[in-house]
Amino acid sequence: MDIEINTKGKELFLALATLSLFLLMIITTLLWWFISPRLHEISEFLADISLTALRVFYLILVIGTILIYLTCFLERNFLVARFAVKLFIVVIFPVTILLGKIFGISKDKIRESYVYVNNAFIKALKKKFDPSEVLILLPHCLQNTECGIRITVDIFKCVRCGKCDIGDLTKLAVEHGIPIAIATGGTLARRIIVEHRPKFIIAVACERDLVDGLHDVFPIPVYGVLNERPEGPCINTRVMVEKIRLALKIILK
Ligand code: SF4
Repeated sequence: MDIEINTKGKELFLALATLSLFLLMIITTLLWWFISPRLHEISEFLADISLTALRVFYLILVIGTILIYLTCFLERNFLVARFAVKLFIVVIFPVTILLGKIFGISKDKIRESYVYVNNAFIKALKKKFDPSEVLILLPHCLQNTECGIRITVDIFKCVRCGKCDIGDLTKLAVEHGIPIAIATGGTLARRIIVEHRPKFIIAVACERDLVDGLHDVFPIPVYGVLNERPEGPCINTRVMVEKIRLALKIILK
């Protein structure tokens, strides 16, 4: 079987992000142009320093964008690229969402593409981890609603009846000796991460929760797996266990 982390679909986010970058540069340049006469009146030094700061900001953003493209397409791990990602998250991501709104692209579509960009970074990482350094983090909505077992406290209480994917996932975790947990929300997810102190996380969630999670745990690398929602959001969701098995084959020592 071909072992591959799926990163197809990253192009949408990259295109929107590049467009956002240009837009941001045009808007801030125009803003500076409007206020610069006033700045010159106040102080020449203030005008010069603000222009230099603006140029440095542009330079960082452009370098960041180039690094992100190189990492995504050449699959080379550039050390500073992770920080370029952070910059993208803070500055560019909100602009891409805004731009998506103008073009009629849904937030979830952009988030999904962003998850693929993130996974391209994971692919480029080319680092191996001990099983104990990895954590599989699952959302509670994977559990079948008819199941009365309280697996949020101890996921291994699952009796693997086959009604949902939790059974196969716990089996996979046991086979590889990897910690696995269920988070009912962001706060619990953060607590689990503090307890386990993983160096690599495999997270299953919907687009919104995955993107929030990626931002929250930065700089811990996260391989994001989007869940499937055959019955709608937050109820009896599914995940392709095989995707996680393949990811483990790639990242485990
Ligand atoms: S597989 Fe486990 S969690 Fe899912 S319904 Fe069966 S016992 Fe419950």
